[in-house]
Amino acid sequence: MNKEKTAKLFERFPFFHPESPITESLMGFGFECGDGWFQLIWDLCLDLEKEGSVQKVVQVKEKFGTLRFYCQTSSFEAEELIEIAEDLSTNICERCGENSVLSQLENFGKISGWISNICDKCKEKK
Ligand SMILES: [Zn+2]
Repeated sequence: MNKEKTAKLFERFPFFHPESPITESLMGFGFECGDGWFQLIWDLCLDLEKEGSVQKVVQVKEKFGTLRFYCQTSSFEAEELIEIAEDLSTNICERCGENSVLSQLENFGKISGWISNICDKCKEKK
C-alpha cells in the first residue's frame, strides 16, 4: 500500500504501533497489500475500534488473493468482523478497489504460485 494511505491508517487508528520492534509486530513494514483494499481496511478498523477488544494489530497482508489481518489479542466478536472483511476482499480488486471476483484459485501452483485478486481492467494495464 502506498505511503499516503498507510500514513492515513496509522494516524487515524491507535492499534497499529508501526514503531514496534519486528519481534512484536510487522506493522513497521506497512500494509502488505494493494491500495485497492484501503477502504476495506479502513471500514474494518472503524468496526474494530467500536468493538474495542483489539489493542495491537501485528500484521496486515495479502495471502492467496485475500486479506489477512492478524491481531495480538482479539475477542470472538472482533475475529468475526475480521473474517467478514477477509471474505469481502475476495470481491475487491486489490489494485483499484473495484469489484473483482477472485477466480485464479484453480491456477494456484501452476504458473508462479501467486494468486492475487486483480480485476480485468487492471490486468490489461499490466
Ligand atoms: Zn482493478
